[in-house]
Amino acid sequence: MPLRTLRRTLREIDRNSRRVKRGWADRALGVAFVAGLVVAPLIVWKMESWVVKRGTDGLASVAVFKGLDGESMAGVRIRDPKAKGPMYPASTIPLGEAKQWQDRAWHGWPLVTRDVTMPPRFELKLLPACPESRQGEVIAAAQAALDADPQALRPGEAGERVHVGGWIFSIGAWWVLLTFLAWMLLLPLRVGREVHRVARNAVRQGRIDRCHCPNCGYNAKESIQTGRCPECGCDLYERPDW
Ligand SMILES: [Zn+2]
Repeated sequence: MPLRTLRRTLREIDRNSRRVKRGWADRALGVAFVAGLVVAPLIVWKMESWVVKRGTDGLASVAVFKGLDGESMAGVRIRDPKAKGPMYPASTIPLGEAKQWQDRAWHGWPLVTRDVTMPPRFELKLLPACPESRQGEVIAAAQAALDADPQALRPGEAGERVHVGGWIFSIGAWWVLLTFLAWMLLLPLRVGREVHRVARNAVRQGRIDRCHCPNCGYNAKESIQTGRCPECGCDLYERPDW
């Protein structure tokens, strides 16, 4: 019963609706709207390689030193990275400073659709007391010092993360943008067509008012009763397409 009422209501609405003539510009906009939904994900996917924001997190600085015996190596995290020079424990030989960094990259536009976290890396500043050959040991000592320090900043887990929400929002944004672009491109054509229509109607109505043929402008006063232009055979009582 309610379904039948609904159908009747819809028919009634349809009967009373003003018929809007859809021109080729409206159809083109419709095509652009549908095509936009297909193209938007491709653009979002491409944006992952076109728009990349890179950043580096400084995690910790470690001062590495060796004992006076010259063999055992150890490291200590520098609490304040801005402090001038590492604070080495007494009776040790400073070897260098190791800074731990982690590089990150955010891909996508307008929202980030993928982020990449690289494995943490060490940047070494070796002092003259440290031979090049012991670089590996310095890094190992710095890593051990960070692992043992409960207050050290832990690096984030390396890997890639896909942002589903970013994907959905970006596709929507591109869809709107593409549709708006198509509308903007079609706007001058629509305006031009409208201006042409109004001007054409004004000319034709002016001819009709003077009993001239609206089509060719021939003075058709004599043939007013036949309703046809003797020159071009056109209808004299045409109603301009307002
Ligand atoms: Zn005519």
